[in-house]
Order: sequence, then structure tokens, then C-alpha cells
Amino acid sequence: MKYSEAFLNAAADLCAAGRIIDSKERVPATSGNFSVRLPDGTIAITVSGKHKGRLQIEDIMLIDAEANSLDGKKPSAETLLHTSLYKRFPNVGCVLHPHAINAVLVSRIFKTEIVLEDYELLKAFNGITTHESRIVVPIFANDQDIPRLAAEVERYLDRHDGCYAYVIAGHGFYTWGTTVDETLRHIDALDYLFDCELRLHGVKKV
Ligand SMILES: [Zn+2]
Repeated sequence: MKYSEAFLNAAADLCAAGRIIDSKERVPATSGNFSVRLPDGTIAITVSGKHKGRLQIEDIMLIDAEANSLDGKKPSAETLLHTSLYKRFPNVGCVLHPHAINAVLVSRIFKTEIVLEDYELLKAFNGITTHESRIVVPIFANDQDIPRLAAEVERYLDRHDGCYAYVIAGHGFYTWGTTVDETLRHIDALDYLFDCELRLHGVKKV
């Protein structure tokens, strides 16, 4: 298959994002998956089973908005979680899913949601301009049945505006943004804020 220039640029961005995320130890083993939406509505996304710190262009595949492979490569089981976010949010251009240890730990002490408020770093999120802000990150039970998990996320997002991310318990988190850079910034901010909460609750040494 001959890929478009838009796909190849997105694939290069995803490889670079993988190296950055891996350098902060947020995608151990072959965990995590990343995607970018292209201008024509198709999606460049990581294939399953590759180490995200050592991605090559051939480790990125092309799918349509319904998560069907367009190039014969095998998508990750979690692809549906990406396509449902793109369908819901027309402005979202990137979805990143790390398995950061801080997200796993917060899901062990908070059961349904993590409330982040009065932190200067909340300004890292698109549209937030003051520390006098509050965001809620929901936590969903882990589930190997991805359509069922995707439906649960959909039900939550139907009822809540201003959501930037969600945690899957014992697993990792999903966050999204208009660009790869913005979504990387959301990962950095979430990891830092989860770290703050873990220290405040005595899980980590302050
Ligand atoms: Zn995962």
C-alpha cells in the first residue's frame, strides 16, 4: 500500500512520541497505544505488540473511523477506545494511552474518580487558564471486553463535559488533545498531578 504524506508525517510523530513517553518509563514492555487523526478522517495508530519506545514507521497502521484496517495490518484490541474518542470530539487530533505507574497506583486508592484542583499545572490542559480550576478524571474498572469498556466510557462522557482523560484501574490512562504535542503535555501534567495526589495520600514519600 502506498501511504499518503499525511500518514507518513503522523507515523513519524507517533514514533517520536513513543520515544518521549518511553524515556519517562510510561510504556513498559509492549504496553500502550497511540494514534493521530488525519485530515481525511482516517486514523494512524500503533499496531499491537510493539515496544513503544522503539517504534518504526512500519509499526504504524491506517484504519478508518470504524476501526477497520485499511492496510491489512492488525490493530490493537484497544483501537475501539481511540475511534470512539475521535467520533465524540471533532477537534481531537491525537489520543495517547500510556501505562504509567502513577495511574495504576491512583486507581488503587481512589475507586471511581480523581479530583484535581487548585494546581498551577492544571493550566497545561487545553482551555484552562487559572489554577482556580477543577478537573475530574474518572476511573473505570479494567475489562478485556473492549466494546463493553468503550460503552461504559461513552455513558460517562455523555453525562460529563470538560473531561481530559480517564484511568483504567490497574492498567493506565487515556488522554487526548488537538495535536500530538498538546496530548504529550496532558500526559506530563496528569502524571505529575497523580504523583502529587499519591504523595498527599501517603502512598509515596513526599
Ligand atoms: Zn492498555
